[in-house]
Parts: sequence; structure tokens; C-alpha cells
Amino acid sequence: MPFSSLNFDIKESHKLSISPFDRGFLFGDAVYEMILSINGRCIFLNDHLARLKKSLDSIKLNLNFKEKNLVDEIKRISNLNDNPFQAIYIQISRGVQLARNHLPEENLSPTVFITSFKINNPSDRQKGISALLKEDERWLKANIKSTSLLANVLSKIEADSEGHEEVILHKDGFLNEGAVSNLFLFINDDLHTPSLDANILPGVTRGKLIQSAEADNINVIQRIIHISEIDDAQEVFMSSTTKGVIPVVKIIGSDFDTDHPGDLTSRLREIYLREIYQA
Ligand code: PLP
Repeated sequence: MPFSSLNFDIKESHKLSISPFDRGFLFGDAVYEMILSINGRCIFLNDHLARLKKSLDSIKLNLNFKEKNLVDEIKRISNLNDNPFQAIYIQISRGVQLARNHLPEENLSPTVFITSFKINNPSDRQKGISALLKEDERWLKANIKSTSLLANVLSKIEADSEGHEEVILHKDGFLNEGAVSNLFLFINDDLHTPSLDANILPGVTRGKLIQSAEADNINVIQRIIHISEIDDAQEVFMSSTTKGVIPVVKIIGSDFDTDHPGDLTSRLREIYLREIYQA
């Protein structure tokens, strides 16, 4: 039976309930994190906590508890749910407000929800995905890990309905990221990825992969990338906490079409897998 925590009270997940007046429910006035847990160890926990803090600061949400309490609760949930591979989900909303108003009342008590989802072993064989090039219709603050994800949800539905796993979002001719992942291209053996001034989430996996690639003497270039550059890419992959390196073999709306994941992508994936097992 899975266990979850609501406001630091742990119960079996199906026994939890939340007020419909929660601002997360009414306005999407909430931020979240997703952390990979392998055999009870939370991988890159400090990087996720640092990004959570940035998201909270960006929406001016002040916590009324210590970070240590949050960390202890995350570890408790990770240990109670004894799946070897879990995604630990943390959501913090601005709290419950009975009089619906866009303007938050002062001194609300944030709602803190932590749960765990069983996931596949990130080292399971990856045969490569197909992705759909699509106009980015999201808001302009994709750097905040907000729960307001309607545009991402609609993009995933569209991709899925056409038999693809992910979208590659672009705006004004330039590439951003996927609906649930960051984007990388190998061009002339160099690794290119949209820079953080594109409208993207600063992915924890993205940051770790840049470090791993540089340590492996791969030249990494973070820059604004034109959509047409996909046509000439040697290899393309996407990245996320739960799936690690995700090779892309076909991109609908471009000339990029290969039979199988490329060698450079596979090598970086192996390096990354070693790192998460050792972290
Ligand atoms: N970009 C978006 C829009 C995402 O939703 C995610 C993950 O959920 C990522 C990128 C990858 O971020 P991370 O590597 O921190 O999981």
C-alpha cells in the first residue's frame, strides 16, 4: 500500500483528502519537484531542494517550517514506499483560502504534499522515442516548476494521439524543450542545448549531463538554437529525472529520422546511469 504525506501527516495514500479551497486546486498556485529515488536514496536531493527554493521564491511563497523537516519527510516517504525505483513528488501550494480571490490572503499556511510513484528502472533498455515539433504555447516563466501545466498536458495529449512520446517545443523559430524534458543535439560531435535564457526549466538532469559530458571531453555549447538545426543534427536526446537520457530517433516536422539511438547519446547515457547509481 503506498504512503503519502499531507502537511507532515503520513497516511496510506487513498486515505488522504484535501480542501477544494486549496489555492493549488483553484488557481494552480503551487510549485512542485520530482526526485528520483533508487533503493531509498534520493538522487541529487540538494539540487532539487535548491530548485524548489527558487520556485518558491519566484512565486513569493514563504514556508512556515524548516527545510530540515521537509527533507526528513521526503526521506520517510522514500523509505516507507519500498519500491527500488520511485519518483518522489513534492507539491507546495499557497494554502487553503475559503474566499476565492486571485489575491492571496496574508498568513495562509502552505499545503505540503509528498508522495511516491513507482517507476521503471532508468537503465531499462531505451530504443528511442519519436517526438513532434510543436509551437510552444506555454507561459513565459517555464523556469518556475509550477503545477499550472495545462499547455504541457495538451501538448502531451496531441503527441500521444499521433503515436509520439514527447513534443519538442519551439517559439519564434527557436527551440525550447519538451513538455516534460530538456533537449540536447549533437552537431559535429559537439553537444548543443538551449541556454537558460530560452524559455525552459533548468532541469537537474540537464545540469548533471552538461557536467558529465564536459568531464568526458565533450564540448558543450549552451545557446539559442534555430529550429532548422534539427534537420542537420547527428543525434538528438531529451532528459528528465525519472527517465535520464532519452534518445530521440524521429522528429515529426523535421528531416531528423534515424533507425536507432546514436553512439554519443548511448555513451553519455551509460556515464549518467553510472553516476545516479553511485550518487
Ligand atoms: N522540462 C520540463 C518542462 C519538465 O517538466 C521537466 C521535468 O519534469 C524537465 C524539463 C526535466 O527536468 P529534470 O531533469 O529536473 O527532471
